[in-house]
Amino acid sequence: MPNEEWSLADFEIGRFIGDGKFGKVYLAREKESGFVVALKIIYKQKLDKYRFHAYLRREIEIQHSLNHPNVLRLFAWFHDETRIFLVLEYAAGGELYKLLKSLDHFSEKRAATYIASLAKALAYCHDKHVIHRDIKPENLLLDVMGRIKIADFGWAVQSNAKRQTMCGTIDYLAPEMVEKREHDHAVDNWTLGILCYEFLYGVPPFEADDQYDTFRRIIKVDLVFPTSHYVSSEAKDLISHLLVKDSSKRLSLQKILEHPWIVRNADPSGCCNE
Ligand code: ATP
Ligand code: MG
Repeated sequence: MPNEEWSLADFEIGRFIGDGKFGKVYLAREKESGFVVALKIIYKQKLDKYRFHAYLRREIEIQHSLNHPNVLRLFAWFHDETRIFLVLEYAAGGELYKLLKSLDHFSEKRAATYIASLAKALAYCHDKHVIHRDIKPENLLLDVMGRIKIADFGWAVQSNAKRQTMCGTIDYLAPEMVEKREHDHAVDNWTLGILCYEFLYGVPPFEADDQYDTFRRIIKVDLVFPTSHYVSSEAKDLISHLLVKDSSKRLSLQKILEHPWIVRNADPSGCCNE
């Protein structure tokens, strides 16, 4: 879809889906093909020049260049005087976060299926030198088949070099980011460990009343497995090999996919409708 060829007139706007920081998301249908998409409308007024150039252009270019079943597609984008329009793959299953809240925690099958899908998506991104750095349940959507999709590339960075900027949400930050040291793609592997824990227990591992305590727990890797319900030792083994302070010693994405817990539990189709 070459950008210039599209305009709002090509779409029939449907149901309002939700509000974001910079605009709104609507269900939409491309008139000629009937293809259903999510149309994200961003109001230029809400962005300053810095944000448009540095943040949004980066989000758009990175997401547009990615084509993987577990990465939300950005099919095209266009703009008018006041708005920027992103033509996105529609994720009918909504936010993973909401599902997690409603189920309290996921089964091992569901958790392993999502972690395997995310490991595959991240391997694809890392191959293209894209580090997401802001993977958290709010940025994960589900499609109609129940497959997980990484969305919101607002904080992603395309680089070969090691990076030294502070970003992301505190519970999901790797120690090297909390300590503002250089970091690389291994921050996403850490985040997979955090997510795996949160999927199985319903809360992220280093949660605390204030941000400073969370920082302190991350730096110490103060990992405690609750006994509120049964979680297999294989699942805990995977988490323990991802939440490792030395980033070079974290399990690789390939090794995650070969881990016995993943092999035993993950649904190869990536769908989870149990
Ligand atoms: P941000 O501006 O940081 O992305 P946000 O994630 O809160 O903030 P949006 O991404 O704009 O906001 O999304 C607004 C709402 O629309 C959210 O509830 C989100 O789950 C939903 N949504 C966004 N994109 C899609 C999509 N492609 N398919 C289905 N729902 C979507
Ligand atoms: Mg979003």
